[in-house]
Amino acid sequence: MAYRALSEEEAKEYALGIPGLFEQGAQLTSREIGDGNLNLVFHLQDKKSDRSVIFKQALPYARVVGESWPLSLDRARIESEALQLQHEILPGLVPKVYHFDKELSLTIMEDLSDHIILRKGLIEAKTYPEFAKHIGHFIAHTTFYQSDFFLAPEVKKQKLAEFINPDLCKITEDLVFTDPYYNAEKNSFNPLIEEQVKELWVNQELKGQVAQLKYKFLTATEALIHGDLHTGSIFVTSASTKVIDPEFAYFGPIGFDIGAVFANFVLNFAAQEVRIKNVEQRNVYQQYLLESIHQIWDVFEQQFTLLSLSQATDPSLRNEAFVQQFIQQVKEDALGFAGCKVIRRVVGLAHVADLDTIVDDTERAYAEKLSLYVGQQLILHRQKWAKEQSISAPIRSSF
Ligand code: ADP
Ligand code: MG
Ligand code: MG
Ligand code: MG
Repeated sequence: MAYRALSEEEAKEYALGIPGLFEQGAQLTSREIGDGNLNLVFHLQDKKSDRSVIFKQALPYARVVGESWPLSLDRARIESEALQLQHEILPGLVPKVYHFDKELSLTIMEDLSDHIILRKGLIEAKTYPEFAKHIGHFIAHTTFYQSDFFLAPEVKKQKLAEFINPDLCKITEDLVFTDPYYNAEKNSFNPLIEEQVKELWVNQELKGQVAQLKYKFLTATEALIHGDLHTGSIFVTSASTKVIDPEFAYFGPIGFDIGAVFANFVLNFAAQEVRIKNVEQRNVYQQYLLESIHQIWDVFEQQFTLLSLSQATDPSLRNEAFVQQFIQQVKEDALGFAGCKVIRRVVGLAHVADLDTIVDDTERAYAEKLSLYVGQQLILHRQKWAKEQSISAPIRSSF
C-alpha cells in the first residue's frame, strides 16, 4: 500500500486487517492523541475485550511547522528498529512493538496509557523513586550493547550505516547547536529576556565551547543513542519507566542522552523556582530533582563500568584505566550537552511546558533567565564540574 496519512477510521480498518492484533468481531474505537511535534499517534481500543494498542505514523513533514519542512519517513523505520533493539536489551523499559509497516511508516506498539509522561508529573511536583535507577540502567545498557565495547567492529560499522538519520540529526544540529546562538528566524523567546539572549549571541567564549559540543555531535559514533531523551519521551508510574520516541536514534555521543535527561531536570528546577510558592516545599522538591541527577549519573557510571570490564568483547578494551577515562569524558560531555539543551528550550523553536505554562510573563522570564544562566555554566565549566565529587553540587550552587 502506498504511503498516505491515516484517518482515525482508516486506522481501525488497518488494525482489523492485522491477524491476531484484536479478537474476531472486535468493536474498535480510534482516537488521534498525538501531542508531539512530528507524528500522528492513534489510540485504538476494542470495546469488547478492552484490549488497546498504539499506532504511531510518521508524516512526511514536521507537524509543528507544516509541509514547508519536509522530513524523511525513514525515521519511522529507525524508531521501530531502535525500539525493538532496546526491547531485546531491556524488555521492561520500552513498549513492545507488535507490527511495523514500512510503506505507511507505521509502528503498532504496546499502549502505555496507564503511565504518565514524566514531564507532566514533574510539572505537578510528583516524585518517582525508581526513575533515576531505571534511566541510568537504560542508558548504560542500551549504549554499551550498541557500542564498540560490545559489537564486533564490522558489525558496528554495518549498524552505523543502518541508522544514518540525516534529517533528524539536522534538526538537532540546527535547533540545539546553531540557532540559539544567533538571531535565527526559527528562534522564539519571551521578549522580557531579550537582553540575556543578545548576550548569548556575542559571547565568543561560549560559542567556541558550543562549537566543540556540536562537532562532537556531528562526528562521534560511540553508540546507538536515543537522540531525543527529554522528559516528554519518558512514561512513568511510581514503579515503572518506559522510554518512547527514539526517532532521532543514530550513532552519536553517549553523553548526549544523559545530558538530555539532566537538562530537563534543570529546566524543571528553574520552573519550580516560581511554581512552588512555599519555600520549604520548593526546597524539598528541588532537592529531589538534584538527587535524581546524582543518582542517574551514579547508576550509569557504575553499570557502564561493570559492563565494560566484564563484557567488552575485545579484551584490549577491558582496561580499567581506559574505561575510567572514557566515562570521565562522557560525564563532561553530558554536562555540556545538558547546557545546550537547556538553552535551546528557552531561546529556540521548541520550548518545554515546565516553563511555557508559567502564566505570569515576569515570573516566566525569571525562570527562563535562571535556566539560561545555569545552561551557560554547564557548558563553560563542564570540565571542572566533571571532576568534582558530586555532579549535582555545582549545579545547585550555580542557581
Ligand atoms: P512525537 O514523535 O510526535 O513526539 P511521541 O512518540 O512522543 O510522538 O508520542 C506523542 C504522544 O502520544 C505522547 O506524548 C503520548 O501522549 C502518546 N503516546 C505515544 N506513544 C504511546 C504509547 N505507547 N502508549 C500511550 N500513549 C502514547
Ligand atoms: Mg515525542
Ligand atoms: Mg510528545
Ligand atoms: Mg518524536
